[in-house]
Amino acid sequence: MNLSCLLCYQASPTPVCHWCEDDMFFFDAQVHGSNLLQYGPVAGHVKHSHYDALTVLGLHAWPMSSLVHQLKFTHSLTAGKVLSNWFVLKKRQCTLTVPNVLLPVPISAWRLSKRHYNQATVLCESLSRNLGIPVNQGWAKRRGFSVQHHLSKTARAENAKRVFSLTKPCIDKAIANNGNDELGTHFSVAIVDDVLTTGVTVNTLSKMLKQRYPNIHIQVWVAAFTPPPKSSLFQQT
Ligand SMILES: [Zn+2]
Repeated sequence: MNLSCLLCYQASPTPVCHWCEDDMFFFDAQVHGSNLLQYGPVAGHVKHSHYDALTVLGLHAWPMSSLVHQLKFTHSLTAGKVLSNWFVLKKRQCTLTVPNVLLPVPISAWRLSKRHYNQATVLCESLSRNLGIPVNQGWAKRRGFSVQHHLSKTARAENAKRVFSLTKPCIDKAIANNGNDELGTHFSVAIVDDVLTTGVTVNTLSKMLKQRYPNIHIQVWVAAFTPPPKSSLFQQT
């Protein structure tokens, strides 16, 4: 086979060579626990008042950030596949319950028309094939064309409340098909996104889900966490 690494372009039989893979920071259930909401260096920096558990593949730092960038801006399905395959391997060591449905964080119709795909959906589809968990793409909507990344934490929270909404059907059908009551008792979902920075987006969406289905169990699954500049996590790489 004559393949080259997505990140360093050296010859490699795998899409990411083992040198690049060795340079990545991966969270490890044995070291950091299965639920990163119980791990201070992550939990202390993200909003998480409305979801129950958090799983992250790795740190949004080079070289993983480059893979996420390829997924987000060049529609690299290979990058999406590599990230989700690693995620599935990490999931095997994790003790959290398997969710009933995967929920990609929506992007706005405006952005979808420019980018032609939602990177969270790309991740979900690959995870879904690997884990046999269905994806619900129509559960929530994102309005408008504002971007979050230049806003402060408070401004993000205000903005998120305005731009996100659950759709009318949301996950009613999945819950009913599964034989659960409408409060979502014993029903578990995973909200999936590419990058977690402040946690405001997933927390806002979780709050909306819990208002509608008070007993639902919510996990958040993301590919990469952006740590604050002086995070102790950098010392471990
Ligand atoms: Zn490489």
